[in-house]
Formats: sequence, C-alpha cells, structure tokens
Amino acid sequence: MKYIMALDEGTTSARSIIYDENLNTIAVSQKEFTQIFPQPSWVEHDAEEIFSSQLYTMKRCLEKASLTAKDIAVIGITNQRETTVVWDRHTGKPVYNAIVWQCRRTADYCEELTGDKAFASHVKESTGLLIDPYFCATKIKWILDNVSGAREKAEAGELLFGTIDSWLVYSLTGGAAHISDYSNVSRTMLFDINKLEWDRTILERLDIPESMLPTPVPSSGICAYTDEALLGAKIPVGGIAGDQQSSLFGQCCFEEGQAKNTYGTGCFLLMNTGEKPAADSGQLVNTIAWNIDGKTHYALEGSVFTGGAVIQWLRDELKIIDTSPDSYDAAMKVPDTAGVYIVPAFTGLGAPHWNADARGIITGITRGAGRNHIIRAALEAIAYQVKDLAVCLEETAGVTLKELNADGGACTNDFLMQFQSDIMGIPVTRPVNVETTALGAAMLAALAYGIFPDQRSLCGIRKTEKIFTPSMDPETADKLTAGWRAAVARCIMETKE
Ligand code: ADP
Repeated sequence: MKYIMALDEGTTSARSIIYDENLNTIAVSQKEFTQIFPQPSWVEHDAEEIFSSQLYTMKRCLEKASLTAKDIAVIGITNQRETTVVWDRHTGKPVYNAIVWQCRRTADYCEELTGDKAFASHVKESTGLLIDPYFCATKIKWILDNVSGAREKAEAGELLFGTIDSWLVYSLTGGAAHISDYSNVSRTMLFDINKLEWDRTILERLDIPESMLPTPVPSSGICAYTDEALLGAKIPVGGIAGDQQSSLFGQCCFEEGQAKNTYGTGCFLLMNTGEKPAADSGQLVNTIAWNIDGKTHYALEGSVFTGGAVIQWLRDELKIIDTSPDSYDAAMKVPDTAGVYIVPAFTGLGAPHWNADARGIITGITRGAGRNHIIRAALEAIAYQVKDLAVCLEETAGVTLKELNADGGACTNDFLMQFQSDIMGIPVTRPVNVETTALGAAMLAALAYGIFPDQRSLCGIRKTEKIFTPSMDPETADKLTAGWRAAVARCIMETKE
C-alpha cells in the first residue's frame, strides 16, 4: 500500500492528513498556531512556529496511522495564500514575522499605486489582480523598507522571499529548495500570468530585487525531497497549490466552465477558465489554477469576506445559537425570514461591490420578526452573496453556470445548500469529502508519483454525497433576490452618507 501525506497549512492551524492510495483518509493531526495582532488591521504569524506546528502534525499523524516516514510515497502541500515570509539565505531565519494575507498595513501605499492608472492597468493585465494589500508585493516592500538592514541584505542577494508553500518546502528540505508553485506565485502581484515570468516593471517600481524570488514549479511534479534528518526518510514533494486552487482541483473541476464555492469563514468562488485567463476579469481576479505537464489552467475568482463567519456572529456575539449547526433547526422552523434581510458587511463588501467601508445592516424588521427569522436571514445572506458572485462571474466570463460544487465547513448545512440551489435555480452538489483543499493537494501529489495515471482517473475519487435541486419557483426567487439587492443598496448608501 502506498500512502500520501497532505500538508494543509491554513490561517489558524497546520494540519497533516494521511491518505491511502485510493485517497481514503487514514489519519489527521491538527495544531493551532499563534495569531499576532501588533496593531488594528495588522496580522502576523511566526513563520518558525508555522513550520514547527506543521512538522509536529506530520509526526503525530504518522503515529496515529502507525506508519513511519518510509511508508509515505509522496507529499502534497496546500497553504493559506499570499502570506509573505522573507528570510536569510544563509541562516534560514526569517527577518520578520510572516505578514498574513488579511493584513491591511500597506493600504495607503496601494491606494497611491492605484492612483497611477497606467500602472494599475499594467498590474491587472500582467498579474490578473487588482492592486490590494491582500497580495504579497507590497508586503515584501514593507519588510524591505521597515526592517533594519533588510534592503541592503536583499540587494546583496542575501534574502529570500516565499509564500507559505515556499517556506515549508525550504524548511522541509533543510534549505535545499527555494521554489513555489505557479498557483501560489500568481498571488504575489509580481508574476506575469500570461508570459509565466516575474514582471520586471512591477519589481522595479516596488524596488524588489529579483534574486529574492523563488523558482516557479509545476503544481504537480516531484520538485523536492524532505531532509532525511527531519522524519527519517527522504520523501518526495509532488504537489503544491494555494488553498482555493487546491479545492478547485479536489472538486475535480478540470474542465473549462466548472466552478466550486468554498463555504468557510469567507466564501471563495472559482471557475476554471481553461488554458487562458478571462479576457476581462471585471470585478473578479484572474489567477493561475494549476500548471501540470507544461499546461497552465486559469481560474476566475471572487470572494465574499463574511460567509460562515455570520453564523459565528450569531453564536458568539448575539448568542442566539449554541453551535453553528443549530442554525439549521432554527431556519427550518419558519417558512421564510418575514421580510428580514441581513447584509453582513462586517469588514466591508468584497466582489462584486468592493466597498471596504460598508458595514453590516439588518432591514425589514417587523413586530413579528423573531430569533428564527434572523438566523434564517443570516444563512440566506451567505447564499445571496454567493449568488451575486456567481452572477458577476457569469457576466464577466459570458457563461452560464450549470451547477455549483460546494465544499467547506458551512456546506454541511442542508438548509443553506437547498436555499442556494433555490435562489440560483441550479443544482448544488456536495461531495462526500468536503475537505477538498487537502484532498486536492493529495491528488496533485498522487498524480506526480504515478499512483494515478492521469487527471481523468482522479475523477472517480470525488464521490457526490447529495445533489440539491431547485424547488422554488423562479418568480419567488427573483422577488427574494430583488429584496436582497435593495438591502445591499441601502447598506452601500449608508456608507456614503
Ligand atoms: P475555515 O477553513 O475558513 O476556517 P471552515 O471550512 O472550517 O472554515 O468552516 C467554518 C465556518 O463554517 C465557520 O464560520 C462556521 O460558523 C461555519 N459553519 C460550520 N458548520 C456550519 C453549519 N452546520 N451551518 C452553518 N455554518 C456552519
């Protein structure tokens, strides 16, 4: 039996999962790490703690499965994207904490860059992205500008940059490999996704030396071997992808036009656009989905900032449910929301509105509106936001979605899935294994190792647990959606006042 280990390095915890050669889960180990908030809106992680937590879970997972490192044929890695690490080439020590994707410290600088219309359109054209603190480029510049001695060292070729995949591979190989896969480099805002090379115009403008950058590698392919001293065996690393791209792969969205939505803290909708990026990404971003066998697949991506987090808010702030799954029973106790809409713009609105200043509102409250209506409105708000993303995606790409593949923690809520299908008028499919992010990394690695001969043969792995089909008449769906849009308009109007 050949075993595959997936490393799923998320924003709050590191996880390792061992699969058998049919990609059945054998063991899981998870460890949380520290969230560092030096100032409001700043978020950092200790990169060394990330690696030690990851290594801990790898060892623990082997123990749980009663296996040794020699039993692991190949490793796949998936990671929180955009989080930026800069370290010393000689000592392997980070020169600063990892600056996390959520961190807004470079917002003013990004606004300044966006003001240069020619540069902003070059960035969009080349990298597929909108200028935003979210991506790595301005985070790297911040480190070089603010850490004493960093710029001089970088210019002397002594510093290396990497996203978390890159940092993990560097650490796992004892410093032998400085690489990053194409899906991750496409999130740096420094990489030309059409020419597949680092963009010199952006590097020069931001004053970032090219010598710091990792070598891009395919998302599936043996790219490195772990240092024997760490686990007692040299294990090949065969797959790497950023978390959202990995879940698109884990959902087997291999064909152009196939899309998945992950219902986690936020929601991420990605659609495979085939071997070229969308001509105009509009309010969405173009990104590299994966690069396999010399072929690059692209995806259009949109994100909702507050997805499942609105349910956490019901639980932790309003305290009207004890656990997230309780929201299901409450929503099912009422036939509708009695006209209540919640727009959960807690940290602004993402695509397609891109309004950083918007804040949440509840509309349509009448004397009869109660706890269950509010809970139902919160769940429906997740679905409406995903519908808005999907409509934007359809308009941008000129396609019609035929079905939506769901994954992530909140997709276990049957009410949410049914309402999503009703309001969009298309089937929503839930796989047996909703942990598609880790599964995608394992699949990429298994493919590289030859456990599966080709991508097509992986499709048999993805098993559907349930398909939710539309049961609402389209007029009702349109009427409800119009009510939602009016609530969003009020939310945005209040921001302007
Ligand atoms: P992440 O990977 O972003 O940490 P997960 O995929 O683990 O998130 O999903 C967790 C989110 O899903 C939380 O915001 C939680 O409130 C929500 N969630 C989990 N289970 C349910 C449920 N049964 N109904 C509604 N929301 C849920």
